[in-house]
Amino acid sequence: MLTTQQTGDVVKTVVLIISRCCSDQVLRAEPCNEAQVHLLKQLRAREPLQFSTGGSNRPAIWIDAGIHAREWVTHATALWTAKKIASDYGQDPSVTSLLNTMDVYLLVVANPDGYVFTHTQNRMWRKTRSKIPGSNCIGVDPNWNWDAGFGGPGASDNPCSDSYHGPSANSEVEVRSIVEFIKRHGNVKAFLSIHSYSQLLMFPYGYKCTKINHYAELNDVAEAAANALASLYGTRYKVGPICSVIYQASGGSIDWSYDYGIKYSFAFELRDTGRHGFLLPANQIIPTAKETWLALMTILEYVRDHPY
Ligand SMILES: [Zn+2]
Repeated sequence: MLTTQQTGDVVKTVVLIISRCCSDQVLRAEPCNEAQVHLLKQLRAREPLQFSTGGSNRPAIWIDAGIHAREWVTHATALWTAKKIASDYGQDPSVTSLLNTMDVYLLVVANPDGYVFTHTQNRMWRKTRSKIPGSNCIGVDPNWNWDAGFGGPGASDNPCSDSYHGPSANSEVEVRSIVEFIKRHGNVKAFLSIHSYSQLLMFPYGYKCTKINHYAELNDVAEAAANALASLYGTRYKVGPICSVIYQASGGSIDWSYDYGIKYSFAFELRDTGRHGFLLPANQIIPTAKETWLALMTILEYVRDHPY
């Protein structure tokens, strides 16, 4: 049972849930399977978690959370999701068939320096913590730093702004590492990025407002995912391209992944719609993770069943 008011504490809690079976003497309550031990090691090494049942270079799904530091419910949701995948394999037919076909990569804390800063200095910090040449201000918005319409409308060129796009595309190690990972892998078929808040499920484009070629298909998938999500607690999401759902915004991750050839590119904005915003109460963490799981699985099943 979670009683703390701050969502960040759930990260520790969920780490314990994953790890209590592996290493914690006091909390050890259940045996840990091999997959959980492996995941725990990756988590502690800050690597993307890899869920794989073998094969070589299988088609893969990329999921990242926490690229904006203050969006704490996203880290928590990603960790809950990690445990869900690890424990459902071999039990749940859908997860089992997914992992028998594809690999899943899950980056739980995409902006670790920023995340630490939200715990130690400023709960509302959003950016990376990199030094900007010629400025006293710190950090780049790592979601406007991708090589997709970089520097265009919607992102700021002022280093002191919260939406500063950075000196050049991929200037941030947090962004560059993901780009290099995706390129090196070469067989990623879906790219999902998890943010909060606003309750949106979006697809490209953000840097321009023209319709993508796969508009109808991606819109249908997103609608189905949003309906699955709503089926649990009635939480309503808005669905559509970034440009029409929020505003024109350049240099975003899913625009880059889509232009790179990853057709199934989506961005989530989790709960809520502004009442608590980034300070979502802890008692909403597990419900948020559970409903998001239904949307994620809708997308992942669709990707599994529509190879390209
Ligand atoms: Zn965000």
